[in-house]
Amino acid sequence: MEERDVIIIGGGPAGLSAAIFTQLDGWSTLVLEASWTGGQGAIAYTVSNYPGFLPGDGALLMETMQKQVTSPPPLGVGAELRYERAVSLRAEDKVVTTEKSEYKAQVIILATGSIMQKLGVPGEERFVSKGISYYAKRDVSQFSGKRVLVVGGGNTTAKSALLAKTMASEVILVHRRESLRTYPIMTRRLQKEGVQIWYNTELTEIKGGNQVETAVVINNKTGEQKEIKIDWIVICVGTEPNTKLAQEAGLVMKGAFVKIDGKMMTSKAGIFACGEITGSERHLITAASEGASAGMAASEYLALEKVKRGEMFEGAKNGKYADEYMAMLH
Ligand SMILES: Cc1cc2nc3c(=O)[nH]c(=O)nc-3n(C[C@H](O)[C@H](O)[C@H](O)COP(=O)(O)OP(=O)(O)OC[C@H]3O[C@@H](n4cnc5c(N)ncnc54)[C@H](O)[C@@H]3O)c2cc1C
Repeated sequence: MEERDVIIIGGGPAGLSAAIFTQLDGWSTLVLEASWTGGQGAIAYTVSNYPGFLPGDGALLMETMQKQVTSPPPLGVGAELRYERAVSLRAEDKVVTTEKSEYKAQVIILATGSIMQKLGVPGEERFVSKGISYYAKRDVSQFSGKRVLVVGGGNTTAKSALLAKTMASEVILVHRRESLRTYPIMTRRLQKEGVQIWYNTELTEIKGGNQVETAVVINNKTGEQKEIKIDWIVICVGTEPNTKLAQEAGLVMKGAFVKIDGKMMTSKAGIFACGEITGSERHLITAASEGASAGMAASEYLALEKVKRGEMFEGAKNGKYADEYMAMLH
């Protein structure tokens, strides 16, 4: 079994930020990421609220963050990132099992973020990746010439519809209420770009063979139901905290979120949590900030554990920064 000082589960903005702080402090750090780095940040459209990053593509911000984490010094901090999904966490001895391997750490930082909320309609599970996407960004190249149905009513729904319209032949946005929850300018842009908006309309079933072929929609005011031909469905109805791993590890919850103390520690010693799983504001900057706090708290915890064992900090100044970083600064 491979061992590290710190294992971070989740490579979104919270997990990547935590890695910068633990690795900089000289602790060997491994980030485990189940799908793509950057988490939701990588599927964000134009990010205009992250200090130091001029309005631009969320994927670019997250790519830069990843480079900073994994590149060797002086470009980055040289932490390790592996694309492996953590399937279980044994909190007592801090053993993480992934789909490929098993690791042991002295500290675990959970940064599993959120998962896309499902609509829960018949056919949804069956057609994921076969004509169903959650938010449009990663699949938009496949929309060329297609008839796309977008479900939801917020700003990210509107952005998904506008993005889809750049490729698709036709885009229909269905929303169960009688008005969208977008900035007024967004609604005007949707109209200008020719996105059809069907208000008071709900998607109730998805049908097809190997791919999505039709969608059943119902008008919740009139009760009128129709089955429409559709090639792709984009669901944008929000996210929910991804706390399965934490709950299975027996961590104490606070409502839907993982409970942490003032030092970002969960109910189990040496297991920290940060980002959206703790109920932080759902923004990149707040996730990154929580990640930084968790990284610092974890580093302090590791240092204190070393002191308790009577060990020295070899090759480090003030028991904190690794030699190469001090050299880099001078
Ligand atoms: C479409 C969209 C647009 C957005 N736009 C903006 C915006 O413009 N500005 C802004 O500030 N915020 C925006 N946000 C919100 C922002 O992206 C999130 O608040 C932020 O990414 C949360 O960070 P996080 O690290 O807590 O979680 P996430 O970003 O969800 O990252 C969690 C990571 O953990 C990984 N993971 C989960 N479980 C496991 C496991 N078992 N093993 C290994 N890895 C695992 C996931 O694959 C994921 O990469 C947007 C979100 C969405 C969905």
